[in-house]
Amino acid sequence: LKVEWEKLKHAETVTADGKHIELAANIGTPKDLEGVHNNGAEAVGLYRTEFLYMDSPDFPTEDEQYTAYTAVLEGMNGKPVVVRTMDIGGDKELPYLQLPHEMNPFLGYRALRISLSERGDEMFRTQMRALLRASVHGNLRIMFPMVATLKEFRAAKKIFEEEKAKLVSEGTKVSDTIQVGIMIEIPAAAVIADKFAKEVDFFSIGTNDLIQYTMAADRMNERVSYLYQPYNPSILRLIKNVIDASHAEGKWTGMCGEMGGDQMAVPLLVGMGLDEFSMSATSILQTRSLMKRLDTKKMAELADRALNDCDTMEEVIDLVKDYTR
Ligand code: PEP
Ligand code: MG
Repeated sequence: LKVEWEKLKHAETVTADGKHIELAANIGTPKDLEGVHNNGAEAVGLYRTEFLYMDSPDFPTEDEQYTAYTAVLEGMNGKPVVVRTMDIGGDKELPYLQLPHEMNPFLGYRALRISLSERGDEMFRTQMRALLRASVHGNLRIMFPMVATLKEFRAAKKIFEEEKAKLVSEGTKVSDTIQVGIMIEIPAAAVIADKFAKEVDFFSIGTNDLIQYTMAADRMNERVSYLYQPYNPSILRLIKNVIDASHAEGKWTGMCGEMGGDQMAVPLLVGMGLDEFSMSATSILQTRSLMKRLDTKKMAELADRALNDCDTMEEVIDLVKDYTR
């Protein structure tokens, strides 16, 4: 099996009936690029920039960030790189930011909510400037985490545009083809994905959080881990809604949560028309091999049945097993 996967390292990802799907890797630091190349990823689908902040004794400077982003963009040689703006809070602490203690940190002041607050404004603008300056070194896509409302997206996009205009007026070159998208990881955004799709360039579904918020079950709490159900029909319907909404506006949808690398979920997601899968680099070759064996029409039929005929997660799992046997 490993030998077969190895042969796929430099192959395109195509289904049995010839549809191309983008297989990307999740990374936390520029050092992870080695694994990305060794496993033949076609893109970076999620660069979690918060590690840049967490591994530093103080706020990383604009130049420090520029260096890291440039290393990843250049390392990918023109292949797409989705950089997620900092996602601090929740389970991720940052000593020098001194976040207030909260009863429900996962429902609190985190990620884009910090970036858009007075306290996070300078930090966010610094990150935007570093990204914009680095953008000339590759194919940059910027993604905002934890977006709940259109107003938040518009505010973040406005800061992006403002910093871009400032840099341009200072004579700094920036790319004109940067895509700006959002993570879909809050149910409110998944439900009105049709509205978001008119304004964003892409979606990337963060199932780790989307499942915890939809099922109201803390992803870190083992006592409720039975409710962490990627195959629950409610989750599948949200995902389908997001993919369809993006396609109706000519946009694309990826997935960067753990579910995207789950071999049982892949047939369903291919059937729902997901355009990009981003996962830990070590799952890429196995997934490419699986996709080669899937027929998109047959998987679309599987997805339809899962969405319409199944009442429970267990029924969905049985159905997928039936189809992929
Ligand atoms: C997610 O929520 O699915 C995701 C990819 O983000 P993180 O795991 O970093 O919260
Ligand atoms: Mg998340």
